[in-house]
Formats: sequence, structure tokens, C-alpha cells
Amino acid sequence: SSAQPAASVSVPQPIKTIAVVGAGTMGLGIAQLCVQHGFPTILFDLNADILAKAEVAIAAGLGKLVEKGKMPSTEREAALARLRPTTDLAIVQADLIIEAVVEKLAVKHELFQNLAAQNAPQTILASNTSSLPITRLAAAVPHPERVVGMHFFNPAPLMPLVEVISGVATAPAVADAVQALAEKLGKQPVRAADAPGFIVNRVARHFYVESLKVVEEQVAPFDVVDELLEATGFRMGPFRLMDLIGVDTNFSVTSAMFEAFHFDPKFRPSRIQQQKVDAGHHGRKTGKGFYDYS
Ligand code: NAD
Repeated sequence: SSAQPAASVSVPQPIKTIAVVGAGTMGLGIAQLCVQHGFPTILFDLNADILAKAEVAIAAGLGKLVEKGKMPSTEREAALARLRPTTDLAIVQADLIIEAVVEKLAVKHELFQNLAAQNAPQTILASNTSSLPITRLAAAVPHPERVVGMHFFNPAPLMPLVEVISGVATAPAVADAVQALAEKLGKQPVRAADAPGFIVNRVARHFYVESLKVVEEQVAPFDVVDELLEATGFRMGPFRLMDLIGVDTNFSVTSAMFEAFHFDPKFRPSRIQQQKVDAGHHGRKTGKGFYDYS
């Protein structure tokens, strides 16, 4: 509870073992990075099918590195051997736990409480949340000083940036340890304050929100918006990018930011995006989003 003394946890032990919780779009990429860089990594998901798909995707991701000559094939086997997929939460124990479950505060709270109960107080609990306040996440967790934001970008094995976010309670040594780990994973960590959407998602929100408005107002169809923006130099248009991110995840992030900014209309979620979510058209991961992938 908040009555606990602050900073009762000393500098964390060197991080030797990692667990990634949630094996969806982001979790699988983060787990790949960890095993690729030598860390024994537990990968947990509630859903056995998603976990099995994640294992296949990680093997394929490492295979691509071998094909490109960036990794010897023996190292691929060694990396795969470091991965321990599981649907048993009770074995999720590590020096650093990175959660990448659905963007819902209540789900993350319950998860961190369960993880806190079965891990040492020094275990760092990092969240890959795109939009939920780290301070609020940490407040419901025993020893909130070990809760920190570690925000990767999609696809995690390729995108160099990681935002490291300290909440009000986060111990500086914990943020330092996560920053150093991100560097060991070959990333470029950037410190961000605990403001809604941190840096990148806050600015990028308008790329999605405004594009959805353009389509909703029938100014242009979504594929035309993509084509135009790609022609001006964006690597992916907003609709192709939403399909990659997960239309459901993107919607949850916008919804969380709308709330966090006290319902500022500039962050209002879109009706057509809501409909895609309701219809189960969540993008590439479901075979259909704005585009068809089947
Ligand atoms: P996703 O829907 O692809 O995967 C979420 C996974 O979490 C699913 O496999 C689900 O089975 C699992 N899950 C749900 N509840 C769980 C629980 N209690 N315990 C264990 N597993 C549980 O979502 P995603 O896109 O990978 O997003 C995960 C997190 O990463 C979110 O917080 C999101 O905001 C953030 N994020 C997403 C992106 C992106 O581009 N998709 C980028 C950066 C950060």
C-alpha cells in the first residue's frame, strides 16, 4: 500500500534472468530480443495457442537473422534453448519481468500484484504500456519503487528506440538498471517523464486520430490516405500501421489517452475504429483489419 516507506528496496541485483508476460505482438518480439542477447527468458501467456504461435514467430525471427548473416546458425539454436514458454504463472520468477499484456489498467494491476507475491522485492516490474500512467500502475503494487516503464516499439527486434519511464515512486537505480539493460539489448533508451502517452505516442496519436477523422468525414477512403502519406515519405500509412500495431491495441491506447487528458476532444477515439474492434477485425494478427491478410 502507499503507506509503505519509499525506496525500501536497495539497488537491484544485476539482471541475469528475464520474464516476458504476454506473448502477443509485442511480447514475442521482446522475448526474441532477450534470448538473442543471451538472457534466459521465460515467456508467459494465458492463451496456449498464442504462446505456440509466438514460439514459431521467434524461431522464424531468429532464422531471418541467420539468413541475413547477422547470426551464426549455432547461435540461433542456443538462443532458442534460452526461451522457456509457459502458461503456468506460478513459475514466472526473474530479476526483471516485462509485462506486455492487453492495455487495460485493471489487468496489469492484478498481474503485477500476483507477480509481486511470488518474486523478491528487488525484482523489477517493467511495463511495456503505451499509455497507462506508470505512477498509477505502481501505486497498487507492493514496493512501487521497482515499477518502471520500458516501452518498446513495434516490431521490437527491429525498432531501435525504448522509452524508459519513471513514475513518481520509481527508484532512480531501477530506471538506471532498465536503461543499461536496454543498451545490452542493442537499443537506444530515452528517458521520458510519466505523462500520458509519454513522448512518441502522444505526438503520433494525431497521425491516427486525424486520419480516422478524414475517413469518417468521407474526405477520402483509408487506402488513399495511406497511399498519399506513404508518397510523402511516411514509411507506413496510418491504416497499414494500425493493422500492424493491432487495431484493438491502438484503440485502447487512444481511449486511455483521451481519459488521461481529461477528455480533451483532440484525443477522442473514432467510431469506425471502435466498430473494427467490435467486429474482431484487429489487423494482421486476426487476418483482417482495415486490409485483408487472409
Ligand atoms: P496483443 O493483443 O498482441 O497481446 C496481448 C497478449 O496478452 C495476448 O496474447 C493475451 O493473451 C495476453 N494476456 C492478456 N491478459 C493476460 C494476462 N493477465 N496474463 C498474461 N497474458 C495476458 O497486444 P500487444 O499489441 O502486444 O500490446 C501489449 C502491450 O504492449 C500493451 O500494453 C500495448 O499498449 C503495448 N505496446 C503495443 C505496441 C504495438 O504496436 N502493438 C507497441 C508498443 C507497446
